[in-house]
Amino acid sequence: MLALVLYLVALAAFVYLVVLLFESGGDLTWMWGSFEYSTSVPVFVLLVVVATAALVVAFWLLSWLWRGPARIKESLGRRRREKGYESLTAGLVAVAAGDASEARRHARKADDLLGHPPLTLLLTAQAAQLDGDHEAADEHFKAMLERPETEFLGLRGLMAAALRRGDRAAVRDYARRAHALRPDAKWAAEAVFELQTLEGDWSGAQRTLESARDRKAFGADTSRRLRATLLVEEGRKALDSLDRAAALKRAREAHDEAPDLVPATVLLARVLIDAQKLRQAAKAIEKSWPRTPHPALAELYVETGRDSGVEHYKRISKLVDLAPDARESHLAAARAALDSNLTGEARCHLLALEDETVTTCVARLWAELEEREENADEVSLWLRRVADADPEATWQCDRCGEVASDWHAVCEGCGAFDHAVWRPPGPVEPPLQTQLPATSL
Ligand SMILES: [Zn+2]
Repeated sequence: MLALVLYLVALAAFVYLVVLLFESGGDLTWMWGSFEYSTSVPVFVLLVVVATAALVVAFWLLSWLWRGPARIKESLGRRRREKGYESLTAGLVAVAAGDASEARRHARKADDLLGHPPLTLLLTAQAAQLDGDHEAADEHFKAMLERPETEFLGLRGLMAAALRRGDRAAVRDYARRAHALRPDAKWAAEAVFELQTLEGDWSGAQRTLESARDRKAFGADTSRRLRATLLVEEGRKALDSLDRAAALKRAREAHDEAPDLVPATVLLARVLIDAQKLRQAAKAIEKSWPRTPHPALAELYVETGRDSGVEHYKRISKLVDLAPDARESHLAAARAALDSNLTGEARCHLLALEDETVTTCVARLWAELEEREENADEVSLWLRRVADADPEATWQCDRCGEVASDWHAVCEGCGAFDHAVWRPPGPVEPPLQTQLPATSL
């Protein structure tokens, strides 16, 4: 604004001066020693304008020449940066392709051209890792911790290296630092969560889970399932300490969060049956049965009534009718029918499993049925088949293949959390790609 006012004042002064000169008329005369020069006012004004224009052009030319070296330097720098980024890209591609020597070569070149930018540290560390030079890789990852922009990546690299070495203390340290730095990062939250579950720190794991869920690091379904699993372990711990009220509270919450989580329903039903709340226990099992029919639930359901004979069979039928085609429903019904001396019904349910694999449980039920009906030949046939029958389903870790007779949230073989699945024991397919955090501690 001030510049505009000054400009207008100068312009007005100039115009006033020109008008004054024109109005005064006559010629302008200069004396330079013995030399005298005269001209008219319009010619003088023209000369002034031309001289000013010439001065402006001369100034612009001089300034262009003055800035020449700086411009050349800037242009060379730009070209150097472009080459540096080209090398960086080529290096990252080489890392992705697993070409260690090429990655190292490009890393050095990019480092020279770009003057040690943070990204070349990562590239150099990855190239060293590819080469199997873990010490050098660790050095580079540690150097990344010095810069705020690469600290998080450096922690990830160091944690992966610590995992490989099986150094749990280092993994804990790096994982916690990374999680504190970026609570929204899934891998860091997973690593901290898995370490806490490994140490049986259920309440700490709940806090990590809540924080990860709130920051969208864990999805809603995953969070619900993990929370329910943690609650089951908390409930079991409370039951071990004879705190039945706390155990019931945790079991109810776990069952509400994940009615398909068998251990949650088993814990809830167990606590309720022990408290003589049989109707509530039956209701909880009935809610889970259509989702996950399981022999442990059928056994607990038997405990929710004190009937016998046909009444007992009718009561169990009420449960199995909730999932009439399920294998476990036929097995539970056959068991109840035999206990109620209803061999016709038992045969009916066992025949429904004819097309399925004969397991030890099925063979034993058949042998018992034939014995009740006094078919001696059939009894010996089924007893022989018990020995050759397929094993029953059991809890098996789908990560390492560890088999357990009882469910545990943390695998005793590999420490994985919530990886126990109910199935016939068998070999486990190794994962195609080991991702962080790969719990192998
Ligand atoms: Zn395992």
